[in-house]
Amino acid sequence: MNIIRLECPSCQQTVELPEAEARRGLTCPSCFKFFTPALPPAPTPAQQQILENFQKPAAQKTRALAENIGTLAGLCLVADVLVLIASGIQSINGPATAGWIGGGALLGAAAWLFVVAQIIHIRANTEK
Ligand SMILES: [Zn+2]
Repeated sequence: MNIIRLECPSCQQTVELPEAEARRGLTCPSCFKFFTPALPPAPTPAQQQILENFQKPAAQKTRALAENIGTLAGLCLVADVLVLIASGIQSINGPATAGWIGGGALLGAAAWLFVVAQIIHIRANTEK
């Protein structure tokens, strides 16, 4: 809500109030005269939309980035599960150390990417 400062046309008393209320007119708290201040016209819904679109891109970009990293984390996790299954099958026939290490590394990467995605998500929300 936009707070604006007005001057009473009768007694020059300064009044602070939300812009939406000022548009409906107000009674001066000092001389009790009702007046409707001359304010620049409120933005139309279309203009409001344009204004919002100007302010949005930063947060939207950040959110898209978070989503991409989240997807990457998911892919890492899927790849990790496949490697671990493959290692499990291999270890029936003999040691599959490389597979276990690779699986572990992928799991770590997935966890980190997930955490990074969450942090960026939080940042995107505060940018909104
Ligand atoms: Zn007044």
